[in-house]
Amino acid sequence: MSQNETHKAGFVSVCGLPNVGKSTLVNHIIGSKLAIVSPKPQTTRGVLKGILTTDAAQIVFLDTAGIHSPKDKLGNFMVDAAKTTFAEADLIYLLVECQKPRHDEVELTRELRTTGKPVFLVLNKIDRIQKDLLLPLIDSWLGLMDFKEIIPVSALSGENTDRLLELTIDNLPQTPAFYPEDILSDQIQREFIAEFIREKIYKYTQEEIPYSTAVVVEEMKEREEGGAYIRAHIYVEKDSQKGILIGASGAMIKKIGLAARREIQQFMGYGGVYLDLQVKVEKHWRENIKALKKFGYARQ
Ligand code: GDP
Ligand code: MG
Repeated sequence: MSQNETHKAGFVSVCGLPNVGKSTLVNHIIGSKLAIVSPKPQTTRGVLKGILTTDAAQIVFLDTAGIHSPKDKLGNFMVDAAKTTFAEADLIYLLVECQKPRHDEVELTRELRTTGKPVFLVLNKIDRIQKDLLLPLIDSWLGLMDFKEIIPVSALSGENTDRLLELTIDNLPQTPAFYPEDILSDQIQREFIAEFIREKIYKYTQEEIPYSTAVVVEEMKEREEGGAYIRAHIYVEKDSQKGILIGASGAMIKKIGLAARREIQQFMGYGGVYLDLQVKVEKHWRENIKALKKFGYARQ
């Protein structure tokens, strides 16, 4: 058989409560920095794709925001975004920590059962528990739904993730790759870059700033003199937040820009990135679904 006839490709939705290790797992598998990994819950917003391409298979990961009880429209959207990825998925990972099912996870399995898709129960953070506790723990999950596979892993150390990949590929349809091997789409590049910027905002500002922030990469172009020009807008809700983000004599925005630029250069594989950051006030953007669409949080 020719390679084309045996090639596998498909979409894998990675769902689970905040902080269980979804971003860490996808990042480990893809081998590059995809979404923000942070001890603070809910730092991944919207749906980011990571793509793993090998000779035999292509896996497109849909890294959903953590499913949780929504508090505002943004929260609601995040739940919806996670659910819509189920419809696109060929396979779903329910990622959980090595512990008994929590209330929201029981609810989630109810939702997952209705999709009719194969679901892998991925028990993450096995580096944290004694091995002899694993079997009784798995027992506590068995009654919830009919999992296609149950795979304990450590996203952090990579333990057993090879096995997870093997089983994943087994469960994907036989079809040629959807995306070229080494090209990240423009949209994905922009998502990466916005994430790098967001990550620096989280790192350097106080708590009330990050959750009131949206980053949109407005423009990306090669510069005639070499390197790239990137213009991004940072949206906040209040003038006071704009003030904090810019800082005294622009010190804060400079710090964020410098740190983000360093990572963007590394990611793009060349120096000479000019990063133009502009802070804009858009009141109540969280409540404004139209704005969410513009910010790429809502997909058409
Ligand atoms: P997400 O909200 O589900 O995307 O979770 P993250 O990937 O951001 O991870 C949340 C926290 O759990 C981070 O501090 C990770 O370093 C940590 N973490 C993720 N996977 C593992 C693991 O396998 N073992 C341990 N010990 N920690 C992990
Ligand atoms: Mg995450």
